[in-house]
Amino acid sequence: MTHDVILIGGGQAALSVAYFLRRTGRTFHILDAEPAGGGAWQHGWDSLRLFSPAAWSSIAGWPMPPTGDTYPGRDHVVDYLRAYEQRYALPVERPVQVSAVVHDDQGFAVQAGDRTWAARTVVSATGTWRKPFVPEVAGLAEFTGTQLHSAHYRRPDAFAGQRVMVVGGGNSGAQILAEVSLWAAQTLWVTPQVPAFLPDDVDGRVLFERATARWRAQQEGRSVDVLPGGFGDVVMVPPVVDARARGVLASVRPYAHFTRDGAVWADGTQRSFDAVIWCTGFRPALDHLAPLGIVQGGQVAVDGTRATGTPGLWLVGYGEWTGTASATLVGVMRSARSTAAEIDAYLAR
Ligand code: FAD
Repeated sequence: MTHDVILIGGGQAALSVAYFLRRTGRTFHILDAEPAGGGAWQHGWDSLRLFSPAAWSSIAGWPMPPTGDTYPGRDHVVDYLRAYEQRYALPVERPVQVSAVVHDDQGFAVQAGDRTWAARTVVSATGTWRKPFVPEVAGLAEFTGTQLHSAHYRRPDAFAGQRVMVVGGGNSGAQILAEVSLWAAQTLWVTPQVPAFLPDDVDGRVLFERATARWRAQQEGRSVDVLPGGFGDVVMVPPVVDARARGVLASVRPYAHFTRDGAVWADGTQRSFDAVIWCTGFRPALDHLAPLGIVQGGQVAVDGTRATGTPGLWLVGYGEWTGTASATLVGVMRSARSTAAEIDAYLAR
């Protein structure tokens, strides 16, 4: 059978596109590497919370059920995404780890080990969680302490009594520092520049409002340079407010190099650490597109979400380069809707 659309990835981005594809009557099939639904959310740390309320964290068609907490936790998001798949009876096959996408006479052959699916079009929605990013640092290979990326961080008590460096000035860095500092003997927060904090009386909604303002400006051809920033600003969720009150949120600029037991700064300061937690972000998981020869510098040339050099391929949910706020639950809706409409028009040619 040749599907009209194969979606690679079964997280929030793919589910959002699937919601709009259902309305077109096109045949589609979702291949997801996870054994269960929820995308990257199922790998979040135990205390991970949304930085916006449930009502501002829904994907198309079905509002996220409210919880007693202002900011829903990881498990609530996972339950919502799993229930969403059931609610719309979305055809998800898992676990299937797609290894390659190649051209064939129908459009594309999507391969996973010795299995192949034929598709007229493909949506890549594989997210970034599988590509945690750690910067190259001189001497890091000699460091004998523990290293952990936020993608694999789970609980703070694993660092009880330790000297811990947390690297990265975004929401992950601030939230992990806030809880590890309650257990560690000492913490040091290292950020490339002074972190930007949202005012206490706003939450992640303002980030989405900013994203919408940037999106409108782009649509109207206005400069976004004068508009406030994107998603890097730290949302003052209660644990981060508490960490500030404890004096933990002071950060320093990065080290010059690592040593066997710590790091050295340009002024000669040396500090020893038992562990480093890298909250240094992610890169798009695009290895499966390598056979198409279109991945350059970790991205693919797109117009909106449509791959400009590969007719019939769309990329959804990877962040700003595939649509303003597209790596967020509520933000991916715009690009999911336009992607489904473009696919329908493409197949109708
Ligand atoms: P994922 O959720 O990563 O889903 C991609 C799916 O594709 C996964 O199931 C994966 O297994 C699968 N996959 C990958 N490669 C393959 C392959 N080759 N073959 C088959 N399947 C594959 N967003 C918000 O809206 N609000 C927040 O408060 C918020 N907080 C966040 C906090 C943290 C710490 C992080 C890291 C992100 C946060 N985000 C938040 C962003 C957003 O929730 C995630 O980026 C989200 O998981 C992106 O969804 P996705 O569907 O694009 O990717």
